[in-house]
Amino acid sequence: MFRIPESIAAVGKERINGFPVEGFVYGEGPERPELMLIGEAPGEFEIVDGIPFVGRAGKELMRSLGSIGLSREDVYITSAVRSRPYRWGMKKERDGTLTERKYNRPPTQKEILAHAPVLDYELANVKPKLIVTLGNVGLQRLLGKEAKVTELHGQLLEKPVRCLPDLSSTAYEWTERLYRIVPTFHPASVFYRPSHRPDLDADWLSIGKLLEEMRNV
Ligand code: URA
Repeated sequence: MFRIPESIAAVGKERINGFPVEGFVYGEGPERPELMLIGEAPGEFEIVDGIPFVGRAGKELMRSLGSIGLSREDVYITSAVRSRPYRWGMKKERDGTLTERKYNRPPTQKEILAHAPVLDYELANVKPKLIVTLGNVGLQRLLGKEAKVTELHGQLLEKPVRCLPDLSSTAYEWTERLYRIVPTFHPASVFYRPSHRPDLDADWLSIGKLLEEMRNV
């Protein structure tokens, strides 16, 4: 199993201090997995258990992994941001009363930058055969804003990725190393866009085929 050093987690926690986020979920999985999955940020369920993708999106993700014969234990799961970004909103109770509660929201660029050293560390030290980005947040963290999941999903890319040259920097640079990356949709995307499901399923089958080819070389 791979786990980032506490010193790196401390840097992440310190840098995210003051943003409307809560909790800190470690990446999880083997040191030399076939796949490294990069999501967006944990949600309300993940921060309770401290385990990535245990909520509704997680069930969907496990279904995709299962379709290519893999399970949670086989892959390294991480995300661009490791704390849950939240916003306050009003929830209507059954009896009609309104209560304030926290809702998940996507991370901002500043939050992604704050946790960049954590993902940089994993990118440098976890040795997957293939990286799969789940949605635009993970994809753009690696390849920049021009990269769009709708255009690139299911394709094998071999590219340098963005990383911070040092902790005081606010501008990403490119790694010397090339990474093999297949972008696909975030597992939760099929909840609000069911028409994505055939593409999502086809992407995962492509990922399975790629792994099979890689096992045979
Ligand atoms: N979305 C993510 O990106 N990560 C999780 O752990 C859950 C939902």
